[in-house]
Amino acid sequence: MNISEKEILDRISDAFYALDEHWNFTYFNKEASRLLLRDQGKLIGKNIWSEFPETIETSLFEKYHKALKVQLPLQFDLYYDPLKIWFEIRVYPSQNGLSVYFKDITKEKEQASRQEQHYRSLFDYNPDAVYSLDLEGNYLSVNSTTEQLLGYSEKELIQMSYIPLITEDEMEKTTAHFSKAVNGCIQHYESKVTHKEGHIVDIKVTNIPIIVENKIVGVYGIAKDVSNQKRTEKLLFESEKLTAVGQLAASIAHEIRNPLTSIKGFLQLIKGTNEKVNKNYLNIMADEITRIEMITGELLLLAKPQAHDFQYEYLNKIVEDVVLLLSSQALINHVEVNVTINRVPLMKCVPNQLKQVFINLIKNAIEAMPTGGVITIHASQQQDTSIRIVIEDEGGGIPQEFLDKIGTPFYTTKEKGTGLGLMTTLKIIDFHHGTLNISSVINKGTKIEIILPLEQTTTLKGNLSK
Ligand code: ADP
Ligand code: MG
Repeated sequence: MNISEKEILDRISDAFYALDEHWNFTYFNKEASRLLLRDQGKLIGKNIWSEFPETIETSLFEKYHKALKVQLPLQFDLYYDPLKIWFEIRVYPSQNGLSVYFKDITKEKEQASRQEQHYRSLFDYNPDAVYSLDLEGNYLSVNSTTEQLLGYSEKELIQMSYIPLITEDEMEKTTAHFSKAVNGCIQHYESKVTHKEGHIVDIKVTNIPIIVENKIVGVYGIAKDVSNQKRTEKLLFESEKLTAVGQLAASIAHEIRNPLTSIKGFLQLIKGTNEKVNKNYLNIMADEITRIEMITGELLLLAKPQAHDFQYEYLNKIVEDVVLLLSSQALINHVEVNVTINRVPLMKCVPNQLKQVFINLIKNAIEAMPTGGVITIHASQQQDTSIRIVIEDEGGGIPQEFLDKIGTPFYTTKEKGTGLGLMTTLKIIDFHHGTLNISSVINKGTKIEIILPLEQTTTLKGNLSK
């Protein structure tokens, strides 16, 4: 090595040493001796493995041998324990030895590790379950909330796919969302998993693709346990139904009293005469009794807790039943209900739930017209796939600023209102994969448009109230 080369190597800011093919130092620059706390002069000609025996146990030993053998440069980071320093090491092989450049990167490493710890705590201490999955859906990492949510330990989960945890009825939907996430789209959805101990947990999930160097390598999941929220919703739903039924029962009591009075009257009449019983009276009595039967039957059916199974029913039948139930309330309030339903095919639905929708909406319409008016209900088939139902009233309307709040629980402008009617209505429509739109003009009236599909393509079974 000539002088100028030596000077250059001494001046470069990186530490540098050279080794010959027998692993002896042939050069050691100033920076190297500063970093490794060794005297430059005393190392030349000495063997690296006897001067730095601790390195034999580290990856450095194997990496240097490999670089020399395959004659390719390589770079790696190494923590050198005797000096408590992180080194970045670059190795350049030649036929007769290695040139090694290295520098102290302890500060950068500490900074990166601090940053890593910042992110790490977002993962470790997150109140939501956070986990990552590979492209096939196998767990790669899970935080402790995930362990609690599922009941399995981290060790058990790492060897598992998420698929066996999903309940059967949610499987199709969940795997569809997962594969969309694998294709790069963030997904939000609800699903159900089976806890290790056997109970079902309702979850709200966000799936985010994990992108490394522009490639999707897996999916992050964030899951929240919403079982409690679901239970509360179910309770609310039931209590709202009972309130509606209770209020109806009160108004129906009137409805029943009238025919009963006439029946009683006729009976007295008949008792008082010796004539053969007048057929006309008997016919009237029979009609009145049929009406009482129908109304009470309808009310009982509605109040009865039932499995909310989808079945085929005509919309006409549902609307007619409801109008019958509400007829006395309409009459008392001088409200006329006009129903026109064009021929519509059978529709797959939960009839009792739809009845509740129409009770809520027609009651709201009656209540919006304290001095009477007309409610128009119109329904017809839309394309081949759905039914459009429009309910219009001539009431006071809903101010624009309240329209946004409609459907949030407990929003009511009525003294005895619950503010739950529209919320449950929206939930039921949503459950049927339909849509509901409200338009309203102050002092003119309110128009509610519902579109319901004739078929329910995905088989979802009552997650509202079973
Ligand atoms: P509630 O009837 O118990 O108040 P709802 O959820 O059924 O609860 O309705 C919430 C509110 O929306 C009502 O208090 C009322 O202010 C408004 N609203 C609903 N339907 C109508 C309507 N057809 N006309 C005017 N206002 C309505
Ligand atoms: Mg209401």
